[in-house]
Amino acid sequence: LNNYNIQKRAVDSIAKTQQIPYSPVAFEKGEGAILFDFDGKRYIDFLSSACSANLGHGNKEIAQAVKAQMDKLTQYTFAYFNTAPPMQLAEKLCSIAPGNSPKKALFSCTGSAAMDSAIKVARAYTGRNKLISMEGAYHGSTYGALSVSALSLNMRRHIGPLIPEVYHFHYPTDEYNWEKCIEEIEHAFSYYLPPDEVAAIIIEPIAADMGLIIPPEEWIQSLRKLCDKYKILLISDEIQLALCRTGKWFATENFGIEADLYVMGKALGGGLPLGALIGKKELLDCLEPPAHTFTLSGNTTVCVAALKNIEIMERIDANKLSIEKGNYLKDKFLKLKKKYDFIGDIRGFGLSLGVDIINPSTGKKDPKATSKICYECFKRGLILIFLNKSTLRIQPPLVIEYAEIDEAMDLLENVMQDYSN
Ligand code: PMP
Repeated sequence: LNNYNIQKRAVDSIAKTQQIPYSPVAFEKGEGAILFDFDGKRYIDFLSSACSANLGHGNKEIAQAVKAQMDKLTQYTFAYFNTAPPMQLAEKLCSIAPGNSPKKALFSCTGSAAMDSAIKVARAYTGRNKLISMEGAYHGSTYGALSVSALSLNMRRHIGPLIPEVYHFHYPTDEYNWEKCIEEIEHAFSYYLPPDEVAAIIIEPIAADMGLIIPPEEWIQSLRKLCDKYKILLISDEIQLALCRTGKWFATENFGIEADLYVMGKALGGGLPLGALIGKKELLDCLEPPAHTFTLSGNTTVCVAALKNIEIMERIDANKLSIEKGNYLKDKFLKLKKKYDFIGDIRGFGLSLGVDIINPSTGKKDPKATSKICYECFKRGLILIFLNKSTLRIQPPLVIEYAEIDEAMDLLENVMQDYSN
């Protein structure tokens, strides 16, 4: 096997929708923030497998915990019998979730399916069917999660109808301020969208796939107030940014509000597939069995991986690491910005930064420059991708070494230097 023939055979054997634009590279192994491809080339990972490898690659402790569990019992479906790890993980997740009210967890196998569980719970608990989410948001690829997403035409083409009664509103951006966004919803509430028929407002506290956009906290707080006023549930999609990525267990904690339901996935299973919904007991208990049960959800071994993952995060104080390393990286980008006028806004919490690449003469996005910079980084050994055409996505594993950050940023600076010449 080598990079080339893996790519060639993948094109032949894996459906087109799962073909990867970044190939022809296939990774063979990894350690921490470092990856090696099948041709032996080394890379620094600024993507963390799309935030699913918060503790880096090849984590030995998680691997040992997984092996020990698999040697005893890989799993038994909790559709019929208990094993201990799902219960232990549920207790742990409820204890780290914000707020003091007693909570429960509902497991799925992916983030998308956990988002579906949130929609089911919100509809069943409120007895209402309308849902609000934001234009440009991505919440997942199953029918429910996709229906509340509004990011990509390709994701929605030829597969309809999606689930009905979903209303999309603007997310605050430079062009659309937060007051206008709230007014838009209030306007809808007075003219065509009865608020007493709305089950939930679904947000990502930081709009990741839109370009890691951070909304003003007034927007989130106003949404919270609207939800309280009309007894609508506020659902926070924490799939990408929970588990220390922003320097908090949950990204919502950066905005001084509590959501009613927290949707988790990605890094939760320590790299293995797992999704979860966390919320107040009375909410989570409103579905009767087996309304959201999968044979492999709450998988015994995956729950062991998730427990070990959280145990390590607590032990190394991953929130603190995330903030310290995030600030270190942010400073490095601010220094680069002084040299290169095509670097625009730099924003983020913890080890999740968005860095805009702009056309200096117009101040607008520069997709061409962005893709050139990312591709050149990739060729030289830095995994760096962009969001929304021109935002660099900076989300390395939380365990990245400072020396690796320095090396990656030197590499990036060389690329920018060459680009500007
Ligand atoms: N919500 C957000 C914010 C995400 O980033 C993603 C994954 N990119 C999802 C939902 C879907 O999660 P999954 O791919 O695990 O189903």
